[in-house]
Amino acid sequence: MPIQILPPRLANQIAAGEVVERPASVVKELLENSLDAGATRIQIDIAKGGHQLIKIRDNGTGVAKEELTLALSRHATSKVSTLDDLEAITSMGFRGEALASISSVARLSFTSRTADQTEAWCAKAEGREMEVQLSPASHPQGTTVEVADLFFNTPARRRFLRTEKTEFTHIDEVVKRIALARKDVAITLTHNGKPVRQFRSGDSEAAISKRLQTVFGPSFLEGAIEVESVHHDMHLRGWIARPDSCRITNDYQYCYVNGRVMRDKLINHAIRQAYDERLGSDLHPVFLLYFDIDPRQVDVNVHPAKHEVRFHQSRLVHDYIYQVLHQALATSMQPELEQPSE
Ligand code: ADP
Ligand code: MG
Repeated sequence: MPIQILPPRLANQIAAGEVVERPASVVKELLENSLDAGATRIQIDIAKGGHQLIKIRDNGTGVAKEELTLALSRHATSKVSTLDDLEAITSMGFRGEALASISSVARLSFTSRTADQTEAWCAKAEGREMEVQLSPASHPQGTTVEVADLFFNTPARRRFLRTEKTEFTHIDEVVKRIALARKDVAITLTHNGKPVRQFRSGDSEAAISKRLQTVFGPSFLEGAIEVESVHHDMHLRGWIARPDSCRITNDYQYCYVNGRVMRDKLINHAIRQAYDERLGSDLHPVFLLYFDIDPRQVDVNVHPAKHEVRFHQSRLVHDYIYQVLHQALATSMQPELEQPSE
């Protein structure tokens, strides 16, 4: 075969292989876009575990008609323009690939309106060349993305889809993880027309503890050890469970790096080490931790789905997290000291 440039749809389908694994990955990408657009309300409607339909509506900035075509194109992003930007990322997205990838493996429509437009427009990328077609639509300020028939044209991927119930569980997990990172955003989730989650926004104790209860169960906060520490440009806060309330699964491990949902080996290792022999080898730590660090100290461009990061000073980060948690556990396990008699 002679060397040739891949047609756009095929090139996007190949890229989609890395980021669009299942319906939950679509939900993650679209939610991150809504957050990057400054949305304060996001409504997620799912039909049949997301195989049939994923619909996400937000009240963010929207995309102007003239930019809609670019929004659906590969390597098009409003979030970075120089290497400097890439080295200090504060947005969730930066690859400019999600919408192009998703539209290459599903029927995607992107309907949007900005504050200064009087009309909304709907964009779809169709055919082998993925040429974008625009049509007038009706929509308040913000964006609605609909993704129907995921993997309709990639049978190999479609075969990997699990049952409706399993796929929805993954979606629910993505939504819960993001809801715990962004208490300032109201998020609702429905499945087949039935309400499943309703996270109200608010920074009050009550609003926060309600979100925590939804995810960790009613008694987590009572027994948990609260952590809060600052060291130079590193900030660690959150909750860890006492060793006797740790679990036999690792499902209750929530970690955020600069607001991004992570499953980071280095951090997990530091946490495990902090529990050390306090935890039987068959048990897993339970935690909800927010770690913030100067964005220049971390490289988020390591993994297409951005589940992993690389810290420039990994030893320092590891030891800091270990120290803070080790200390917190040690303090909380001390038997009540007797009051010294005068
Ligand atoms: P990235 O998020 O990496 O920039 P995407 O393909 O996910 O790439 O999105 C492309 C662009 O489309 C974004 O940079 C943004 O400008 C715009 N966009 C996508 N979703 C939304 C949304 N919900 N609201 C406003 N703009 C959006
Ligand atoms: Mg994105």
